[in-house]
Amino acid sequence: QAEPTEEIGFKGHGMLAPFTAGWQSTDVNPLVIDRSEGAYVYDINGKKYIDALAGLWCTALGGNEPRLVKAATEQLNKLPFYHSFWNRTTKPSLDLANEILKMFTAREMGKVFFANSGSEANDSQVKLVWYYNNALGRPKKKKFIARSKSYHGSTLIAASLSGLPALHQKFDLPAPFVLHTDCPHYWRFHLPDETEEEFSTRLANNLESLIIKEGPETIAAFIAEPVMGAGGVILPPKSYFEKIQAVLKKYDILLIADEVITAFGRLGTMFGCDKYDIKPDLVSIAKALSSAYMPIAAILVSPEIADVIHSESNKLGSFAHGFTYSGHPVSCAVAIEALKIYNERNITKNVNEIAPRFQEGIKAFSGSPIIGETRGLGLILGTEFVDNKSPNDPFPAEWGVGSIFGAECEKRGMLIRVAGDSIMLSPPLIMTPGEVDEIVSKYGDALEATEERIAE
Ligand code: PLP
Repeated sequence: QAEPTEEIGFKGHGMLAPFTAGWQSTDVNPLVIDRSEGAYVYDINGKKYIDALAGLWCTALGGNEPRLVKAATEQLNKLPFYHSFWNRTTKPSLDLANEILKMFTAREMGKVFFANSGSEANDSQVKLVWYYNNALGRPKKKKFIARSKSYHGSTLIAASLSGLPALHQKFDLPAPFVLHTDCPHYWRFHLPDETEEEFSTRLANNLESLIIKEGPETIAAFIAEPVMGAGGVILPPKSYFEKIQAVLKKYDILLIADEVITAFGRLGTMFGCDKYDIKPDLVSIAKALSSAYMPIAAILVSPEIADVIHSESNKLGSFAHGFTYSGHPVSCAVAIEALKIYNERNITKNVNEIAPRFQEGIKAFSGSPIIGETRGLGLILGTEFVDNKSPNDPFPAEWGVGSIFGAECEKRGMLIRVAGDSIMLSPPLIMTPGEVDEIVSKYGDALEATEERIAE
């Protein structure tokens, strides 16, 4: 049974705070997952759950894909590890870098740098941009602009870039060189009678005002998720990226696309940049890159930036940055196989075929008196619970409505993401129609139970 806790609403399996990650402890009664099979996971007691979050937005190919297991095993037998320092590397890491560059077609990219997590990738982006501006002789161009409600990771810099107060309070963050601009959530933040286009124009104008106030010569880069994930699955309003990109271009500010969730088919296009015609200078990818079977992340760097960094006339010397496990051969071998599978099985086609069933199935519950908005695209979706269907009428936090819904899903054998009164779904990309129907049906039953519990 759920019980109230001080900060986080209700306690239940997996429904603690979003950031209990990493601490291994049994005193919070964790849900212990034991094995997986396709779109399902099983706990240590044998209970079966449909994994409607694909782990943590990442197991795109579901559990136990034999080709990924084989790729890992073969590579472990052949060469379990070698590093990629001092001009040494491994074949899987070279091959994967080439494959990523081929697959990213929103614009030409020049080079790939490997990290182990989305946070490391975004931290690396900041160092890379600073190094680039130093190499170009513009040491003042160092600030980053990110957006409220964004999530870019948990390390010091990635948490600073993120726009979630929980990541800043208590940690003396964000770092002083990070600024935040508007969250592009039309439903929550538009003015009366403001169209989506007008909302996008206002946000682009606000961004421009911030840049002018700070001094354009001090702003290095803007970072954005094509669709905000952990902030609640927030889709950009019409013409948002077109208008934002025009402002960035005007002031010579780099654009970093954080595609940690959106890359490799989640939105029905291979990358989120394809969906929204985003032409980034730098891109972060992780998660589905290896379908999460092994930890790996990468950053893609434009040819212009790569040229400066690797130019002989660059007086700064080498880009002194890298990790022991950058380009880990086993992770790379698994990722190469995952990308092969996405291409061979035409993963975006599968997503586009199944997405209407998923989106329309869940959006059919939007009339519920406790739902403010359900939004989504492809195989990612978020619901926000509010009173009176209004973004201005949140339920009292101590009711823990989102957590109740999460616990009701879990009781019925479905795992989702809860953050306050926002809940999020991002199932594996290999979903069958029957599995989508199961998610829709469990969502409906959990919703009904939640409505009843908060009416008590
Ligand atoms: N960027 C985005 C958009 C994410 O969603 C996440 C994780 O969910 C990260 C970065 C951080 O990735 P990691 O948890 O691998 O450090």
